[in-house]
Amino acid sequence: MPLSGTIVVDENLCKACELCIVNCPAQVIALDKSRITPRGFHPASLYKEGCTGCGTCSVVCPEAAITVYREKRTEKESNA
Ligand code: SF4
Ligand code: SF4
Repeated sequence: MPLSGTIVVDENLCKACELCIVNCPAQVIALDKSRITPRGFHPASLYKEGCTGCGTCSVVCPEAAITVYREKRTEKESNA
């Protein structure tokens, strides 16, 4: 089953180094030029669908600013 996920970036930690962006296999992260963090950077942000929840961005982030949430989609989830 395909995995889907999402990320939350702690804008107090992100320093816009773009490591998560260049390492994301799904290419779904970009700097959000419409926002500025308390430290004065444009924060990394998901900008389109397609995150698989692979966790790579979280691993490569030198600031540990990214939390990954993963959801496994199954067809028989509700047969409890
Ligand atoms: S969890 Fe994986 S697919 Fe999702 S944004 Fe991070 S690196 Fe990209
Ligand atoms: S790797 Fe971390 S610090 Fe660098 S842009 Fe991504 S979230 Fe920000």
